[in-house]
Amino acid sequence: VFVALLGIAAASGLTMLLLVLVKATNVFLPADTKFGIVFDAGSSHTSLFVYQWPANKEKDTGVVSQTLACQIEGPGIASYASDPTQAGESLKSCLEEALALIPQTQHQETPTFLGATAGMRLLSQKNSSQARDILAAVSLTLSKSPVDFWGAEILAGQDEGAFGWITINYVLGLLLQVHGQPKERMLVGALDLGGASTQISFVPQGPILNQSNQVTFRLYGANYSVYTHSYLCFGRDQVLIRLLAELAQQNSSAPRVQHPCYHSGYQATLSLAPLYESPCVHTTDFLNFTQNLTVEGTGNPRDCVAALRNLFNSSSCKDQDCVFNGVYQPPVHGQFYAFSNFYYTFHFLNLTSRQPLNMVNETVWKFCQTPWKLVEASYPGQERWLRDYCASGLYILVLLLEGYKFSEETWPNIQFQKQAGGMDIGWTLGYMLNLTGMIPAEAPTQWRAQSY
Ligand code: AMP
Repeated sequence: VFVALLGIAAASGLTMLLLVLVKATNVFLPADTKFGIVFDAGSSHTSLFVYQWPANKEKDTGVVSQTLACQIEGPGIASYASDPTQAGESLKSCLEEALALIPQTQHQETPTFLGATAGMRLLSQKNSSQARDILAAVSLTLSKSPVDFWGAEILAGQDEGAFGWITINYVLGLLLQVHGQPKERMLVGALDLGGASTQISFVPQGPILNQSNQVTFRLYGANYSVYTHSYLCFGRDQVLIRLLAELAQQNSSAPRVQHPCYHSGYQATLSLAPLYESPCVHTTDFLNFTQNLTVEGTGNPRDCVAALRNLFNSSSCKDQDCVFNGVYQPPVHGQFYAFSNFYYTFHFLNLTSRQPLNMVNETVWKFCQTPWKLVEASYPGQERWLRDYCASGLYILVLLLEGYKFSEETWPNIQFQKQAGGMDIGWTLGYMLNLTGMIPAEAPTQWRAQSY
């Protein structure tokens, strides 16, 4: 890598504009740019993010930008249980891309983290030693690389929700202090739908009555008290697996099921292995089957919604402010950003422009009722996720409306978005900011002075 330093002395002799030209990437970087790398080891796949910020503004808000988002080929790291070394190997392609982007002189000062989420949470429930081996393998790969590796860990669900909340509020510049008070009315909530879990995080209007759902932060001199909950087994992929298990169980006399969430005319022979392997599936009523199950779509949104509802345990709720599965949640409040699969699904269905709820319902139902042949013909090249958009569209509606208790009035407060301010929305940025101490508890002195 050819690095040329260009110094331009200003006429006064006081100002020196120092630019670093990195020839390999053809970008100009101020000499005092710092970088950080975060691996998001999700259940379905791993992503790598490179962030950068001006070193002299490290503690300011909104100064971090995203330089790279790299998607690692293949499944999530939890899938490498039988060959953990491969989990480590899988990280190398994106890591190399990141290193090519960051000036070599800075590699050793680049803090690098790996956070694993619900896929690894599930594996560690099922087989903790396999989960440990995978973390050891990814740690080995990263500790051998030239970066400043801080560690690999499995995030608790609460942390995943809390860091997602910090990310979106940081990126939108809402963690500011105005005359001693945070702009509370402006803060936004975070809705994350991953492959194995889903998170909701927001500042409620009233108090948070359950300590285990409360996270408190002091950021830039203001206190925040955020409600958060992560539902394991309520991520998109695990819901689809649980749905299939439920349908198979209802039909346990034959290795063939009618699937209301798949389009009419859809037929496939599916492996039952994911059902057997998932800790989210408890029933064994379909165990007498062979390894495969023939599935026929019926494209019936009403029956699909009914089957999805069965995945929510509403009977375990007795107290007020309990939503489902016995979980306490105050009424939703304020604006929300819905990302990850909330966005992917609604983007596919052209529903990310704040359409009213009745239009959203109508669009999803119409799509579900479209015959499979027509769906296939209408979306060439999109085969990978096509079959499941109906199920995930209806699941999102059930989760948001019947689960989290959004209503017709609060529905318009949900913004389905993947990015904000050029950054992907997710837990990774909040995680890095927190671990590196880049969000100070107290506001920098010059801000405090401005408040008086
Ligand atoms: P991720 O945020 O990458 O962990 O993905 C969350 C969920 O969305 C997982 O169930 C993935 O299988 C699914 N997913 C990822 N990318 C897409 C996409 N482009 N369209 C639909 N679903 C997706």
